[in-house]
Amino acid sequence: MTAQLIDGNALSARLRADVARRAQTLKDRGIVPGLAVLLVGDNPASQVYVRNKVKACQDSGLHSVLEKYEASMTEAQLLARVEALNRDPSIHGILVQLPLPPHIDAQKVIEAISPAKDVDGFHIASAGALMTGLPGFWPCTPYGCMKMLEAIGYDLKGKHAVVIGRSNIVGKPMALMLLQQDATVTICHSRTQDLKAQTLQADVIVAAVGRRNVLTADMVKPGAVVLDVGMNRNPEGKLCGDVDFAGVGEVASYITPVPGGVGPMTITMLLVNTLEAAERSAV
Ligand code: NAP
Repeated sequence: MTAQLIDGNALSARLRADVARRAQTLKDRGIVPGLAVLLVGDNPASQVYVRNKVKACQDSGLHSVLEKYEASMTEAQLLARVEALNRDPSIHGILVQLPLPPHIDAQKVIEAISPAKDVDGFHIASAGALMTGLPGFWPCTPYGCMKMLEAIGYDLKGKHAVVIGRSNIVGKPMALMLLQQDATVTICHSRTQDLKAQTLQADVIVAAVGRRNVLTADMVKPGAVVLDVGMNRNPEGKLCGDVDFAGVGEVASYITPVPGGVGPMTITMLLVNTLEAAERSAV
């Protein structure tokens, strides 16, 4: 492989050490940054995600509460719990793990979170802040991708970035963040007619689809930077991304691995957002 790896674990370790230092500074002033994680139902993947998030908080000296509820919890009960946490001064960030059971309107629950505690960055106020360039919380996965570009010293100004995927939590906010750094941005999706024609123009490619081998070596301009957000299983059951890692690694200048790339950065940016929520509450 000729591309250099962007190691999400190593970068996370550096950023988490900084979170721990800043958390200690707040603690010295009597404020312990606190994250509440709400899980409704017993989705096995969600259980792993919330456990990892809570553990990461604790490892960095943040206070974290995991609240688990039966799938039968009503929307009104969940909304009431969110509202109580909005008023709780020991909690600076609130995360409602998605997906929620079908009888609960996820968007309604997200909108109930105070924007000041919206550390996932999914509230419409956070989306609006990102859109207009105002301060607010950025969704953790694309925020982590931006930190990876920053870590390799990549200047996006005037570069062409292609984002594959247009979800509200990854693709769209990713495109806005790249635009904010003066990249020229193209967003591709399932209706894009000639994906390869787009990606071949790109200096930076972010793949956020959820399908193996969406991006192969013949679709990448030599020297491009490739960030792989996807999380999939290969036929052997091993975790893999959207990018043909071995092939693209021979063409790109930088590439993120899966696992060990964007995944750990997502949790790290949740810690950063929670810490910043606590810092903002302390001024
Ligand atoms: P999503 O909501 O399912 O969105 C997928 C996007 O991919 C959609 O915009 C879809 O287009 C587009 N798409 C589907 N097939 C395509 C194709 N053949 N060519 C081009 N675009 C295509 O998924 P998501 O929540 O954004 O997540 C994307 C992937 O990232 C998933 O694998 C997810 O597990 C992973 N993820 C990882 C992390 C992490 O921490 N590493 C965090 C979040 C998500 P349409 O809009 O036209 O349907």
